[in-house]
Amino acid sequence: MTLRANPYEPIAARLADVVDETPTIRTFVFTPEEPIPFVSGQFVQLCLPGIGEAPFTPSSSPLEPNRLEITILRTGAVTEALHRLEPGAELGIRGPLGKGYPVEKLQGKDILVVGGGVGLAPLRALLYHVFHVRDQLGRIEIKYGSRSPDELLFRRQYDQWSALPGVRFSATVDVPHPQWTGRTGVVTVTSRTVWSSPAAPASCSSS
Ligand SMILES: Cc1cc2nc3c(=O)[nH]c(=O)nc-3n(C[C@H](O)[C@H](O)[C@H](O)COP(=O)(O)OP(=O)(O)OC[C@H]3O[C@@H](n4cnc5c(N)ncnc54)[C@H](O)[C@@H]3O)c2cc1C
Repeated sequence: MTLRANPYEPIAARLADVVDETPTIRTFVFTPEEPIPFVSGQFVQLCLPGIGEAPFTPSSSPLEPNRLEITILRTGAVTEALHRLEPGAELGIRGPLGKGYPVEKLQGKDILVVGGGVGLAPLRALLYHVFHVRDQLGRIEIKYGSRSPDELLFRRQYDQWSALPGVRFSATVDVPHPQWTGRTGVVTVTSRTVWSSPAAPASCSSS
């Protein structure tokens, strides 16, 4: 994706909706005044006049450049100000920036996506992409973990993802919890053995 002529000039965007995901994470739905085409793995800068700007990776589908969802953990000055915004608020978006994932390398491969905590937010854009082209891919296995059940992102979508042909989704929490009947263990450890036959690895880093 190419940058606009002046990459420092923000595109005005309206906050259309806010979804509470966990006690500290919200998804913000922005409608920019012009489309912001991006590929999964690219990021944008959200600009709050008088406060600052910070980088975030859209968690929405790259197929929908008119409507960007961004899932944000409240941690410091900019993210706290973002969490105070209400629908109707306006801000600036710069980007997309970065190269994005080399998704063309995934063609014909089995895909393993492993994410933890708020890390599922940027990966969701990748998931929307692989779901869209899944008839060109092998198996798609998604392993997601969080510290506790109330920190799991996008729970409302797990059944829908699992029901897609060729897609397997599983969630784990790090340690046993009274409200959790699923698997426990840190996701990077529990993901070490996934398939009985080894999948062809495709690295998907966005550096
Ligand atoms: C490419 C990229 C993509 C990203 N995508 C996402 C995303 O999709 N979602 C997301 O939630 N995050 C994402 N991040 C992280 C996000 O950019 C940061 O969380 C954000 O910049 C924090 O800005 P802030 O002003 O809210 O926090 P800051 O005020 O900069 O604070 C950051 C941390 O430093 C601590 N801190 C601040 N001031 C002090 C101080 N004086 N002394 C000690 N500690 C201090 C804060 O407590 C906090 O833990 C991404 C980052 C990058 C680089």
